[in-house]
Amino acid sequence: MSIKIKLILGIGLLFLMILLLSTVGIKNITALKTDTENILADNYNTMKYCENMIAALDAIQQNANGLPVFEKNLELQKMNVTEPGEREATGQISQRMVQLKATPSDANLHLLIRKDISRIMEVNMAAIQRKSDIAKETAKTGNTWIVISSTLCFLFGMTLLINLPGNIANPVRELTASIKEIAAKNYSQRVHYRSKNEFGELAESFNTMAEKLEEYNNSNLSKILVEKMRIETLINNMHEPVIGLDENKIVLFINNEALKISGLRPDDIIGKPAGEIALNNDLVRSLVYDLSETQKTDILPSAPLKIYADNKESYFEKEVVNITIKPTGEREKRLIGHVIILKNITPFKELDFAKTNFIATVSHELKTPISSIKMSLLLLENQNTGHVNAEQRQLIESIKEDSNRLLKITGELLNMSQVETGNIQLNIQQSNPLQILEYALEAVKVQAEQKQISLIVDKEEDLPEVKADTEKTAWVLINFLTNAIRYSQQSGQIHISIQQLSDKVQFSVKDDGQGIDSRYRAKIFNRYFQVPGSAKTGTGLGLAISKEFIEAQGGHIGVNSEIGMGSTFFFELVKAH
Ligand code: ADP
Repeated sequence: MSIKIKLILGIGLLFLMILLLSTVGIKNITALKTDTENILADNYNTMKYCENMIAALDAIQQNANGLPVFEKNLELQKMNVTEPGEREATGQISQRMVQLKATPSDANLHLLIRKDISRIMEVNMAAIQRKSDIAKETAKTGNTWIVISSTLCFLFGMTLLINLPGNIANPVRELTASIKEIAAKNYSQRVHYRSKNEFGELAESFNTMAEKLEEYNNSNLSKILVEKMRIETLINNMHEPVIGLDENKIVLFINNEALKISGLRPDDIIGKPAGEIALNNDLVRSLVYDLSETQKTDILPSAPLKIYADNKESYFEKEVVNITIKPTGEREKRLIGHVIILKNITPFKELDFAKTNFIATVSHELKTPISSIKMSLLLLENQNTGHVNAEQRQLIESIKEDSNRLLKITGELLNMSQVETGNIQLNIQQSNPLQILEYALEAVKVQAEQKQISLIVDKEEDLPEVKADTEKTAWVLINFLTNAIRYSQQSGQIHISIQQLSDKVQFSVKDDGQGIDSRYRAKIFNRYFQVPGSAKTGTGLGLAISKEFIEAQGGHIGVNSEIGMGSTFFFELVKAH
């Protein structure tokens, strides 16, 4: 039976019981009332009339005028004849009344009338007695009915009181406990409630839901396990060493390649803090030393690592991928670990070495013939060698320009190969910034004049000396100035400034040329990089070599530029004192 019907029936029956109880009560009280009213109306009034008639008779006997009172009460009594025998007695009194009017002092007649009155009174007394007994009986029956219906009501009410709250609360309690279990991921929880009411249906739906959740959970778990195994196999079969750490730098996994190059066994590393392993393992130390610094960036490639692997020296590029997740319902991303991947770049390194050696050899070999071409040109320009006409002079000029460019290019290539092989020979000493500036200005003077560009110098007084290789620094400044002249308009202006910055001295070259697009600004110091669309006269090596030269001297190089607003290239060198 459904809870709704149970409630309707329970409350409805209680309602009926109350109705029954009140009906029984009202009915019995009404019966009692009728009984007493009957006594009052039928018998009490008759007794009163009889008493009045006796009093009137007494008055008549003493010759007083009692007749009217007697007649009046007799008339009233005639209208209130209710008991058997009462009518006859009343009739006799009426007859004797006629005689009494004729002979009011007839004592015998008085006696007879009194007798009749007494009979009426006796009959009524008996009736009062009888009716009082009936009223008593009515009250008794009423009491019995009230007791019966109250007992019934009480029993029914008690049954409801004992059963109904439990009937509703018990299944709710069981369901609440089961829902809590499900919330705690105990999906095997079921509700054992078999009634055919709403709770039965609810329990059935709950069990179906729990079953589905369990099925979903199990299927997901097995799927996740398969996925985990797949990823583990994938990582293990990668040719690149991979190490995974959690947010506390505890090693979660390491693949075979990483084990091979580190010389460790899985038991030595998995589940252990990376810092602890790093104490005894150089490779792990170099892999994890900067992990906390890279927490903000997602991927940060660092300088190549030289590791002895595959029976030779190998080069690896370290890449740290920070694993961040956004937990469900949260806004902030959270770091949950790092994956360190080592890319084997040995073949590229080998090719790079080969290329550098080739460039070094070729540029070195080219230098001698180019120098001899320049020498021959000098001889050709000499009057003693013979007369050259204007056309020939132009050709000689053009050959001179080209050979100068060739010499510059071979010079740059040679510099670059020196940088790449780590063979830069720096002669760092206390140098005067103004001397470097003058040297550079002298070198670009003619070039600037040809384009009618004015070189405006802004230098501070009392500039301190810097720690620098004068020649290489001047080379960098010349490179800045040549670029500025090349990318400036005809008759433009180039501002050169030297100023002190706390413990450094800054050299900067500002032009009013086309500027550099922000997309290329970061790449401009890369080797062989040239901004797309710019004049392809150079090699794209000048700024790369400048960077190497300045950084090798402990300085810093950079550029500020906006497209259409010109560029400011600068470098800073450490003060000598
Ligand atoms: P390059 O020999 O090609 O000049 P650099 O390394 O000196 O090689 O310069 C690299 C690139 O940077 C150039 O190709 C040019 O596009 C850009 N660049 C350098 N200096 C400037 C400048 N002052 N204004 C605009 N672009 C410049």
